[in-house]
Amino acid sequence: MRSPTEPNGREEGWTMTERKIWANSGDSHLVEPEDLFESSLPPALAERMPRSVKDEDGKWETIHVDGQQFRRRMPKALDLTDAEGLTVRERAPGANDKALRHVDLDAEGIWAELVYPSIGIWMSSIQDADLLAAGARAVNDWAIEYQRFSPRYVCTATIPLLTVETAVTEIEWAASMGFHAGYLSVAPPIGVDDWHLDSWEPMWSALEETGMVAAFHVGTEPHDASSFHGSYFRGPGGALLNYLETTYGGQRAVTKMIAAGVFDRHPTLRAIVSEGGATWGPFVADRLDEAYRQHSSQVRPQLSRLPSEYLYENVYASFQHDRTAVAAVTSMGWRNVCWGSDYPHIEGTFGHTQKVLHELFDDVDAATRDRITTGAYQELFPHVPPAPISEA
Ligand code: MN
Repeated sequence: MRSPTEPNGREEGWTMTERKIWANSGDSHLVEPEDLFESSLPPALAERMPRSVKDEDGKWETIHVDGQQFRRRMPKALDLTDAEGLTVRERAPGANDKALRHVDLDAEGIWAELVYPSIGIWMSSIQDADLLAAGARAVNDWAIEYQRFSPRYVCTATIPLLTVETAVTEIEWAASMGFHAGYLSVAPPIGVDDWHLDSWEPMWSALEETGMVAAFHVGTEPHDASSFHGSYFRGPGGALLNYLETTYGGQRAVTKMIAAGVFDRHPTLRAIVSEGGATWGPFVADRLDEAYRQHSSQVRPQLSRLPSEYLYENVYASFQHDRTAVAAVTSMGWRNVCWGSDYPHIEGTFGHTQKVLHELFDDVDAATRDRITTGAYQELFPHVPPAPISEA
């Protein structure tokens, strides 16, 4: 988004008392209680689950996962001076309270959310299939209680991905419990077949048959002891390079599904890439169509439709701040673009959601605004009660 010092062409002094835009969020998170695993798993399993230990100065944290340790710098809210030094829970009082969360959402103008784990995302680095399945069930047992509190919470079920059998078992269980989306890391665990290989076919079938959305969140590549799976940059520009790098994983995941014919075989299956922007969709669609035409003699499997058609119809995306995202809908014709808050993460829009929404949509026609703020999400999750009408 625009930096606080950059002129944005609007009058100074915008306040929350101005007309309200309501939006669903295709990218939100639970913050799991610190004792989640201790309270739900035998001690020998619980101690191997992800946990975060923050440095005393609050600038770095160490994530411990099943004997592995990953250091990372704590994100800071660069555009909110009053949030310096505050933890997520201090900033967003409802971060881990089902009822208080409603208060936060109402104040921000966020209606329904697609809700991912937080610490649970680190389970993708577990290498023991039974341990991973037990951990996923512990998170999911807790998440379904959270979801039952309100139809505005569409919680993702964490799918254990070390074997296709455990994945299918969890998808079928999750659907029977009332989940509408399964959270998949953008790359499978290290050492496991990639998304375009045939071994995943039973999982795509299970997702399609249960009507569960395949929900990918960017930046969820499994880590090994030394590196980011993919790329990890140090030195000049590292922060920017690493941030951009996190966006590619979601694009790769859905591209693998399209290229391997997953949506051809499962035409009602839908996938969303959360927190990864939007204009990549039309770009990737063009590139895939070009390859499909120009390299047709090498293309396997052949598809019944152009790759772009699967991307435009089966794939959705959510963005937070991107100034160009609206043009993906209005100028490039990709209607499956959702807005997302990333609540309650510090990189998200908490505390300035209305400012973001007004900057994005004040110059946009109401139909386009409503498609991005509520309509695309509603198409994925039609059971959710409609959002309040945004004030024109
Ligand atoms: Mn997010």
